[in-house]
Amino acid sequence: MNRLFNLVNQQDNRQLLMNTIRNGRVANAYLFHGPEGSGQEGFALEYAAMLNCQSRENQPCGQCPSCHKMKTLEHGNIHLVFPIRTGSLEKNDPPFKNFGPDDMEEIQNCIRKKAENPYEKLCPFDGKHIPINFIREIRRKIYLTAPEPGYKVVIVFDADLMMEPAANAFLKILEEPPDKTLLILTTSNIDAILPTIRSRCQRLHFPALSTTDLGNHLRENGIREDRINLVMRLSGGDVRQAIQLKEADLGRLREMTLEALRMIAIWKIDKVYDLVNRFVTLRKENPDEFDRLMLSISFWFRDAAILKAGKPESDLVHADMQIEIRKFVDYYTELDAFGAYSAVDNCIDLISRNVYINLALVNMFFKIHNRIQPGKSQ
Ligand SMILES: [Zn+2]
Repeated sequence: MNRLFNLVNQQDNRQLLMNTIRNGRVANAYLFHGPEGSGQEGFALEYAAMLNCQSRENQPCGQCPSCHKMKTLEHGNIHLVFPIRTGSLEKNDPPFKNFGPDDMEEIQNCIRKKAENPYEKLCPFDGKHIPINFIREIRRKIYLTAPEPGYKVVIVFDADLMMEPAANAFLKILEEPPDKTLLILTTSNIDAILPTIRSRCQRLHFPALSTTDLGNHLRENGIREDRINLVMRLSGGDVRQAIQLKEADLGRLREMTLEALRMIAIWKIDKVYDLVNRFVTLRKENPDEFDRLMLSISFWFRDAAILKAGKPESDLVHADMQIEIRKFVDYYTELDAFGAYSAVDNCIDLISRNVYINLALVNMFFKIHNRIQPGKSQ
């Protein structure tokens, strides 16, 4: 089966969508829903491409003029709606009225990124809502003749972010859908979609990806074999997050993890306080990287426990640090790996509940130190 966008699996849904076109049973409106990163947004784009592909079979062919324009999301028939920060608007203002050329360029950039990687979120300026003016503008456009042959397709990403006025405006489109127009809503939060909208859409569920599917996709995208388990764990199965983790991030994570463990094992008090300060700064400046570092340390002890128990090395999360973990386990013969793992886990939990982070970290480092070499520093 041909594909236009780089999407992972969901073969049943792909087949089902293909069949609607073959059998002339394309509905007016769909609601694609599933957990973040399962591909519902990308498949909305893929379906738009299938539907407008000019080849008779193997849609989307990837070769015809329509497929070329779809691939870059520059097709005249495709209308994308997404959360955006607008500033204040009058009733009939277009949604981008308050944006200057630089802002528009940023929006174009976001759309280009989405075209390259359909798992990227299309959410310029971290918009939290889809404003009603965006829906009104779409309404004005879709009742006009399509600029190109084929179907007009409106895709509303994160449709749950339409506030009630926007949702009601959208409902009016659903009630009187223009000819040869396909409406697709996507969401990872179906409960937040108005029931009146839900009931007018055909629903299609995109289940979370299996680790096998995600692992294969990461391999195809050039992630090193010995880092695949780590990337899957760090991303919690979300393809978008997984792909965003670059080789440089993972290399730095490895260095930071090893450095922290060295400092904790040696336990020179001034070095330990330096370490605390570095962690605190990291959390302020790059919270995602901080979260990954904490997880990475917890995986280290999880892996140490696995090696101690003589379980297979293929179970390791830090496969790229196998040699270091093996040495660590052999050197610290008294290591309570599970105890150290729990200390990290507990600290992650405390920090998420906004305790005083410096104290939580010192406490965690101290507990880890004691579990690495029990009896040495008490
Ligand atoms: Zn085509």
